[in-house]
Amino acid sequence: LANRMAERVGDVIKSLMNMGMMVTQNQTIDQDTADLIVEEFGHRMQRVSDADVEDVITKTEDDAAEDLQSRPPVITIMGHVDHGKTSLLDAIRKTKVVSGEAGGITQHIGAYQVTTDSGTVLSFLDTPGHAAFTSMRSRGAQVTDIVVLVVAADDSVMPQTVEAINHAKAAGVPMIVAINKIDRPAANADKVRAELLQHEVVVEKMSGEVQDVEVSAINGTGLDTLLEAIALQSEILELKANPNRAAEGAVIEAQLDVGRGPVATVLVQRGTLRQGDIFVVGEQYGKVRALVNDKGERVPEAGPSVPVEVLGLNGTPEAGDVLNVVATEAQAREIAEYRSNLAREKRAAAGAATTLEQLMAKAKDDKNVTELPIIMKADVQGSAEAIVQAMEKIGNDEVRVRVLHSGVGAITESDIGLAEASGAPVFGFNVRANAPARQAANQKGVEIRYYSVIYDLVDDVKAAASGLLSNEI
Ligand code: GDP
Repeated sequence: LANRMAERVGDVIKSLMNMGMMVTQNQTIDQDTADLIVEEFGHRMQRVSDADVEDVITKTEDDAAEDLQSRPPVITIMGHVDHGKTSLLDAIRKTKVVSGEAGGITQHIGAYQVTTDSGTVLSFLDTPGHAAFTSMRSRGAQVTDIVVLVVAADDSVMPQTVEAINHAKAAGVPMIVAINKIDRPAANADKVRAELLQHEVVVEKMSGEVQDVEVSAINGTGLDTLLEAIALQSEILELKANPNRAAEGAVIEAQLDVGRGPVATVLVQRGTLRQGDIFVVGEQYGKVRALVNDKGERVPEAGPSVPVEVLGLNGTPEAGDVLNVVATEAQAREIAEYRSNLAREKRAAAGAATTLEQLMAKAKDDKNVTELPIIMKADVQGSAEAIVQAMEKIGNDEVRVRVLHSGVGAITESDIGLAEASGAPVFGFNVRANAPARQAANQKGVEIRYYSVIYDLVDDVKAAASGLLSNEI
């Protein structure tokens, strides 16, 4: 503040002390106090709001319908551990990379593109797992258009399968089921289909709408069928973006490379990113020094749904950060600095948690919110089911409880991720959160509540839900 007013820091501190505030020079002061100080020093206040600083970013600006062109779908593979996510990603990549082309080897940059036999380009996120999916979503980056749910044909629908289903549903992303390991003697695809039914995933073979494909990541069976199923789903979605505008994209992964400095893989979502573009990405900024595609080749530009490595950053951004091209370096720096100050203040304001009460307060502001999302973990399947049933009975036309995910076992990091992304509290019934989950909940400000009596849990949720209501439930 002293800087901006071109006054001496000591004078500003003195004046604050006169007002009874014992401050140091790096402390953040609130807006009202700042107002008083500015006035006292005889300056005029010009408020720079969020909107003002971020105004130069045209991200809120919608593209005109005539500027939109079709773009490839972005696919994430999810499923239970060991059901073959990594194998499937590798198999798809291998079958579709023409050997000889750039050595026939794809570079791991966190995402890659393949072309199906019928000519459709598909972009795969090469980071299987739910953590990546939810952490991106909680940072506001919804990059996935289609989820491929992998279930091993010689196994069953497992806890992480259910988790994946719930993550996809919460994000409103359509699913395609890949029944993997069909080569195994013990494979029983119909059993998998029947089990999915219990989780409200009705596949086509069961007269439902969700496409299901039997595959083997090991011997390649069904891979082309799977790719065509994805292409079909993407046609239905009619995915479009305007390639002719300042680029906007999401960071898929980022690291500090010894030789090349900070490197981020960005999936372009709108516009076209070019060498020389100036950009801001999360709390970092930079100028595109080089773009490298998934085959390790330098490219001059990248359009919608294309993943590229971006070189030329001043620091390492985080996965899920949004990249925006801006006009000048000064703007880029100002936005980045503004954001990093804001983030620092947020971190300082400890305990900014998603508590039930805050959720309710937020819900009240926004008349459209009629759902109270919750996540519930229990010690045994019977309790989980009983609780879910009780939860679903709570509510009326105005409000209802939506169980985003319920399961058996300890509360995990993945639950916290989903909770953060969806603004939901997590309930543990006779189970606790494991250490990483507790830490994540603290960091992300997710509320965890423990119960050992079903009635207590139901009563609390009822009370919270009636906070949303004008009349009693
Ligand atoms: P992830 O944990 O879901 O990424 O699973 P992986 O891709 O690591 O696969 C787990 C194990 O299953 C590995 O030993 C794979 O070789 C094996 N596997 C994956 N897909 C298939 C398949 O289609 N058939 C057979 N027989 N084994 C498979």
